[in-house]
Amino acid sequence: MHILDGTAVRARIFSGLKPRIQELKRPPGLAVVLVGHNPASEIYVRGKIKACGELGIFSEKLTPPETISTAELLAIIDELNHRSDIDAILVQMPLPKQVDSRRVLEAVAPEKDADGFHPINVGHLVAGRPAPRACTPAGVIEMLKHYGIPMDGRKAVVLGRSDIVGKPMALMLLHENATVTICHSRTTNLAEECRRADILVAAIGRPAMVTADYIAPGATVIDVGQNRIDDRIVAKRLGRAEEFDRKGYALVGDVHPIEVLHCAAAYTPVPGGVGPLTIAMLMANTVALAESHQSRLESNQAIAESH
Ligand code: NDP
Repeated sequence: MHILDGTAVRARIFSGLKPRIQELKRPPGLAVVLVGHNPASEIYVRGKIKACGELGIFSEKLTPPETISTAELLAIIDELNHRSDIDAILVQMPLPKQVDSRRVLEAVAPEKDADGFHPINVGHLVAGRPAPRACTPAGVIEMLKHYGIPMDGRKAVVLGRSDIVGKPMALMLLHENATVTICHSRTTNLAEECRRADILVAAIGRPAMVTADYIAPGATVIDVGQNRIDDRIVAKRLGRAEEFDRKGYALVGDVHPIEVLHCAAAYTPVPGGVGPLTIAMLMANTVALAESHQSRLESNQAIAESH
């Protein structure tokens, strides 16, 4: 059994980004919009801003109140779209109920879309064209490449079909020439479908649901799930009593953390697997957007000078 270490892959991604940041005329700029006081969102945003600091990326956190209206948030996005020092914009989800999330995500300029959620960028992904890509599935691809796990011609099963993980994951595996099956809550014979996979990606938000009968011997199992367990008995059954006693809860994935060790050939643990790569790929998207922004400005300038 090979444990796939997301922290090591993140370090390699960061060291690839540093020289690219040095090459730019000014530091890349990421704006993070965090509405209200959702404790989980606050933790995620802190991690993102910390990563910017480590890499020398300029970050600006905007914290409008929980009561903000859609129109007010759209005005903030519009201003960020026009700022010359901001290359990438991230709107932390979820947004409060009164805000139309879809309109807000669609208002982010596609060329500043740090998360790759804008429909134009989703379209580029479908067509296999370069564009900012959803960070978590992009991180999974980096992980597989880093460890030399072949995708070309292999059977991949993606468990989950959300817009932020399952669907983009399936498309990215398809572009790597895997034969891809997408499973979801209406799939019949779920365990049997999953057992066909050389590469199984679980992204369902169901703690430890993927047990040994879902996993073919020798498969690579990627566990995207991040589920908080507040019951000590459940934590103990999953081998996490010590973590529970230390933190008051345990974090487990969608894959059974003990059973997977007996059948898979490679596995991404939770925590420490896919998690660190989501932020790493956000940084990668930000740098790529800053590079495109700079080259757009340079070509506009060249055109202006030629007139
Ligand atoms: P969503 O809730 O948006 O989607 C869950 C998907 O799983 C849906 O497609 C749903 O099917 C499917 N599903 C749910 N229950 C079952 C079931 N019993 N059998 C089969 N399919 C099922 O979740 P996300 O995609 O946003 O996230 C998935 C997990 O990944 C969560 O644990 C989340 O915390 C984690 N995550 C981790 C990240 C990281 O950085 N590591 C980043 C993002 C997410 P249907 O469509 O039919 O309802």
